[in-house]
Amino acid sequence: MENTKKMIVCATCAGEYEASLVRCPFCGTAYAPAEEEEYMGQMDGIRKELEGHKQDGNKSLKKGLGTTMRIVLLLIAVILLLVLGGLWFSGNRERNRSDRRKEEFLLNQGISTQQEESAQ
Ligand SMILES: [Zn+2]
Repeated sequence: MENTKKMIVCATCAGEYEASLVRCPFCGTAYAPAEEEEYMGQMDGIRKELEGHKQDGNKSLKKGLGTTMRIVLLLIAVILLLVLGGLWFSGNRERNRSDRRKEEFLLNQGISTQQEESAQ
């Protein structure tokens, strides 16, 4: 059964030969499986590193998205505060105006709230 024999492909000339041979019978290049494994290991390491970078990128993207969301929420909060503050302010002004109207009415009636206050 010749098929069970492990065949290797020469990295230099792409010739196929038995793994038991130390050198390629076609071009004489030494078969170095350890070197190949090391190379493959390096490639695997590079691949893993690249994948790690990709994951880091996704993570930082999520973090960036979170920061954007926080800024948006902060802006919404500020806008709400401004709107509520404006409503409160205008409400306050409205009350002051009605107080003044009441004062004017009382003055017209001959009753001064200031006189009452100074009398105390
Ligand atoms: Zn060869």
